[in-house]
Amino acid sequence: MCSQHENHSSSSSSSKNQTTKNGKRNELDIPDWETIDLPPDHVLSHLTDAHCHPTDLTHPPEVYDKVKLGGLASMATIVEDQDKVRELSEERGWYTARSKGKGKEGHGVGVVACFGYHPWFTHLYTLSSTPPSKEQHYFSLFSPKSQNHQTLLKELLPYLPEPKPFKPLLEKLRNDITRSKDEGRMTMLGEVGLDGSARMRWPKKAKHLHPDYKDKSQKGEEGDGEEEEEEWKRLTPFKVPMSHQRAIVERQLDLAVELDVNVSLHSVACAGPSLETLISMRDRHGVRFTNNINVDIHSAGGWSPDFWEQAERNLLNIYASPSIFITGRSPTASSLISKISKDRLLVESDSHDVRLSDRLVWAATEWIARCKKWKLEGRDRHPDDDDGEQVKEWDLQDGGDEEEEDQFDEKGRLKKVKEAEQDTWTVRTLERNWRRFMRIDEVV
Ligand SMILES: [Zn+2]
Repeated sequence: MCSQHENHSSSSSSSKNQTTKNGKRNELDIPDWETIDLPPDHVLSHLTDAHCHPTDLTHPPEVYDKVKLGGLASMATIVEDQDKVRELSEERGWYTARSKGKGKEGHGVGVVACFGYHPWFTHLYTLSSTPPSKEQHYFSLFSPKSQNHQTLLKELLPYLPEPKPFKPLLEKLRNDITRSKDEGRMTMLGEVGLDGSARMRWPKKAKHLHPDYKDKSQKGEEGDGEEEEEEWKRLTPFKVPMSHQRAIVERQLDLAVELDVNVSLHSVACAGPSLETLISMRDRHGVRFTNNINVDIHSAGGWSPDFWEQAERNLLNIYASPSIFITGRSPTASSLISKISKDRLLVESDSHDVRLSDRLVWAATEWIARCKKWKLEGRDRHPDDDDGEQVKEWDLQDGGDEEEEDQFDEKGRLKKVKEAEQDTWTVRTLERNWRRFMRIDEVV
């Protein structure tokens, strides 16, 4: 659904072959997710993909059976996704009560149900109680200045949907989250957020009005068939103003605070407004926001390393989950990862193809290990491992690995450790962070 998923091949090929001038791979290079060696299955089972879109595709159940990761946080983006995510989480829920387990019949990958409305589609919603006409809605939202843009918007109007009142959608969101929580499943708000660069997509049914299409048909290259229909992805020049996006995201964040659920936040090309929005939540809701819920900045939002440090200081409840596809595009991503505090890191794929989740999450995990210079389970030998090749199984939930757990105070913040730094193990750290983020160990 998200067009951020449409450019995977180009983003992965541009990020996978970075070499230094003398031809050697840079130490902080992003691992090649397509060829990376995977660790033993049980190592993967300790990791959760904190942000993905499996319901964008129709995966047969066997695909989920094959996932080695312990969990997937499955995002919803548009109206039609909400029920798909609910159904998937009913099939493979991750229950807060340990006795009920996770995944299908208590086994395998567990799905965290995430409900919400994505910033790319906020032009579809109206906040007024009496829905305006299409013309009023889109013209006041996009306020086209030039004559050309005004003419174009008029031309496209017949192909745009009637604006949907947002209030009933918010009510549905409340019901979806409440029901999912009441039934004991792990639940989050997502994907919601702000995007400073998002432009409305060109309606497929109006493709004959697009200059590219006109050129093609003049040259006699016009093709048809479903493939062409699928590939039709063009953008209009129309951007949704930040004020409208903020109004939509703030209503959803208020709901997250009210219902006590974590958030997966999209933030692209608007680090400033995103932080402002989160700080306004802190000011509005106080400890109900800062102590009761956590926010994962999905793909680390492309934020600069300095900006992230500032944000972390302001908000003790924000985390970041780097992805190969999105975070990997930013030239400063490796230094950003190295700046994110040890106790604020999660990991994600942002993929819609579940068949790729294991590889993408493992590659991002290895990337984190490289940037942070941490040890990596399966690559380095842990003191508990057997002498042979085996990576020994561990269990954080039964109090294993306590020395590292002791480094956190009762609020889950990292304590300053004075003695010589112990080795940090990447998978264990990401697992512990995910458990603290979701408050898994607080639930009896
Ligand atoms: Zn996403």
